[in-house]
Amino acid sequence: MRRGRWTLRAESTTDARARLIDGAAVAATVRERVARDVGELIASGIVPGLTVVLVGDDPASAVYVRAKAKACDEAGMRGEQIVLPATTSEAELLAVVDRLNADPAVHGILVQMPVPKQIDPGAVIRRIDARKDVDGFHPINVGKVLIGESDGFAPCTPAGVVMLLREAGVPLAGAEVVVVGRSNIVGKPVAALLMQPGVDATVTVCHSRTRDLAEHTRRADVLIAAIGRPKFITGDMIRPGAVVIDVGVNRIPDATKKSGTRLVGDVDFDAALGVASAITPVPGGVGPMTIAMLLHNTVRAARQAAAS
Ligand code: NAP
Repeated sequence: MRRGRWTLRAESTTDARARLIDGAAVAATVRERVARDVGELIASGIVPGLTVVLVGDDPASAVYVRAKAKACDEAGMRGEQIVLPATTSEAELLAVVDRLNADPAVHGILVQMPVPKQIDPGAVIRRIDARKDVDGFHPINVGKVLIGESDGFAPCTPAGVVMLLREAGVPLAGAEVVVVGRSNIVGKPVAALLMQPGVDATVTVCHSRTRDLAEHTRRADVLIAAIGRPKFITGDMIRPGAVVIDVGVNRIPDATKKSGTRLVGDVDFDAALGVASAITPVPGGVGPMTIAMLLHNTVRAARQAAAS
């Protein structure tokens, strides 16, 4: 079994099983680093603060928001939740965003998506001060990520994917990376981050109109699946020895579970285990990195605010 850093092109692994890339462990390391940085900032009189705004009572969103606030507390930051009724108008939500933009104790603002249908999500994202947009969706931050300006904020899931690859020691310079999915949330930003000078991957982005998808995926040293379709990437679509990052989170029926369902990724995990050299599990791979990178971005926002 391969250990330590990988070579760029791993050999075929007929008798080997892919190594698991433990996102929970890497996320814990990032969170420890964040907690140390928070301690330093507090010592200099700055308490980094993140405010998460939830509009409505969608149970899944409420779970995410609570998890983000709890993670802030654990890192020693100020985590605030604002819960607004589902009937909140766009003007009312924009007024809350304006207030948070003006509050110097708030370094990061995140409006949990989706918002109710009377509210234009684009208008809300554009209203957040780009310097506090720790979710990285404001067009200014999207542009900064694309042109490689390091004071911008990259969206948390793609930034988490890059951090995972780095912490796992996967060589990226000159590597063939194939991303399946071109969403603004995952596919496009992860491609932008990986093609930057300094990272230096050669990136191909595929989508639902890509001709002969498997021909692309089989070329990949690093295959990133962000599709939203359970087990869509089959074993024969993976190059032997490739590193596979599965961003997908899909709930499928499973009669053996008490809940009657379980989570799977976009990759057929069992098949990939026998082909890839390393793979992220679902859950426990990319997922935990998202909150860790949110904390990381918030600390950076606090530091940049103090320096400006
Ligand atoms: P999305 O906005 O629905 O985008 C899916 C992408 O997959 C689209 O670009 C689509 O192509 C492409 N696609 C769909 N069917 C395809 C096919 N048959 N062949 C090739 N490409 C195909 O989804 P997303 O927001 O990027 O999320 C993707 C997955 O990641 C979901 O499972 C989501 O739950 C998960 N996710 C996880 C995290 C996390 O772990 N923290 C965060 C975000 C998302 P077109 O553009 O042509 O339609």
